[in-house]
Amino acid sequence: MIRKLTPSDPAEYPTSWYAHSAPLLAPYSTLEGEIDTDVCVIGGGYTGLSTALHLRERGYDVVLLEAERIGWGASGRNGGHVGTGQRVDQTRIEEWVGLDTAKALWELSLEAVDRVCGLIDQHDIDCELGVGNLHLAAKPSHAQELQAEKAHLETVYGYEGLTYLSPEQTSALTSARGFHGALLDTGCRHLHPLKYALGLARAAAKMGVKIYEGTRGRPLADGRSGTVKTDRGCVRAKQVVLGCNAYLGKIAPRLAGNIMPINNFVIATEPLPAELLSRINRDNVSMSDTLFVINYWKLSADGRLLFGGGENYSSRFPADIKSFVRPHMLKIYPELRDVKIDFGWGGAVGITLNRLPDFGRVGEHLWYAQGFSGHGVPTATMAGCLLAEAIDGNTSRFDLMTAVPTRRFPGGTLLRWPGLVAGMLFYSLVDKLGR
Ligand SMILES: Cc1cc2nc3c(=O)[nH]c(=O)nc-3n(C[C@H](O)[C@H](O)[C@H](O)COP(=O)(O)OP(=O)(O)OC[C@H]3O[C@@H](n4cnc5c(N)ncnc54)[C@H](O)[C@@H]3O)c2cc1C
Repeated sequence: MIRKLTPSDPAEYPTSWYAHSAPLLAPYSTLEGEIDTDVCVIGGGYTGLSTALHLRERGYDVVLLEAERIGWGASGRNGGHVGTGQRVDQTRIEEWVGLDTAKALWELSLEAVDRVCGLIDQHDIDCELGVGNLHLAAKPSHAQELQAEKAHLETVYGYEGLTYLSPEQTSALTSARGFHGALLDTGCRHLHPLKYALGLARAAAKMGVKIYEGTRGRPLADGRSGTVKTDRGCVRAKQVVLGCNAYLGKIAPRLAGNIMPINNFVIATEPLPAELLSRINRDNVSMSDTLFVINYWKLSADGRLLFGGGENYSSRFPADIKSFVRPHMLKIYPELRDVKIDFGWGGAVGITLNRLPDFGRVGEHLWYAQGFSGHGVPTATMAGCLLAEAIDGNTSRFDLMTAVPTRRFPGGTLLRWPGLVAGMLFYSLVDKLGR
């Protein structure tokens, strides 16, 4: 049901192609008064929704609180890429945690993609699911690294989804400029992120999860009890799950110090002619490059190019997001010079220092998963499954994630910015230099 929001509603969805094209749900009510439940989930993105769904499947009574609207955060604004692997190369993960754990993390990543597809299938979510990602080498040395990555994943992990494409083979798939080869991964998927989030919410509500929007939850940050206060009420739960990621704010400062919210931006062109579409992306795969400040793009179902590029490390978005992202797109597709940009929007990505997610438990009652570092469509969905398993008593796979070493940003929430900004600027400079 498409519905216009009224002024009394919580924050409207940011203007984006996603909010424009998704059938928005009628708002869920705000929590008024006190209620009891088994588990209170805070945050209505993929982490919270998937946790709620998986817990409900196991028979738990679940209340989900979302401060704004379902999918209002990164889950309704992202690039829609559903990638295999973790956000970091397996060889690096092996160095950090050893081969056995690295293999377990790889398997979890494949299960994460399968789980996204499984939920879409099980709950009949219409979210434009597509297949395949082309990872384009931005420098000659990156082309060699992609070939080495393929060989490693095939021999050590037995993964068969990869095909390396020479520059000539790459240009048969895309007119993207300036690349030195690419890795096609047929294990990846891509989707409409907000439709996916709304579909999960619809399914959760149908299964009996009690969803409240416009309801900001304040748990006890030391996990001493399962009481969650809200502006007009309170949830008394046995367990609480925090799925607020980069939008966590000040409710749990110790956890906030484990991640850094950085802003990332996306534009949508006007619908393009079929001939141009097949030139820029012949097989309708998602695409991304190998730069540290990554460019990523895909087509929409109505024939637009959705292009993500550029980020900033301040508390504000650029005044004109369309003009901020457009040069990144034109560098790769100069033929889009005269194309109109219809939408531009941004969102906050929660990153960790080593780019692996941060899972954990505080006290007896508080659980969390955050810091998916730009890889959260599959990983946050999987986090929900692991949180549900753990709360239900089987912590083995959750413990695998908590054992992954993560470090707090130096200086915690107060002083993390200067160090991060210096580091990010250094890497974006490396992107511009070298081979
Ligand atoms: C521009 C952009 C592009 C991206 N592209 C990709 C991509 O292509 N592929 C990929 O895998 N990942 C991508 N990501 C990352 C991915 O979107 C996130 O990792 C994922 O959506 C995180 O889900 P989440 O549920 O943990 O957090 P979110 O979706 O951010 O949800 C957190 C929710 O918590 C709510 N909240 C906060 N505080 C409270 C409170 N006190 N009480 C109640 N509710 C609260 C917020 O309103 C928000 O809705 C991208 C992110 C951005 C911003």
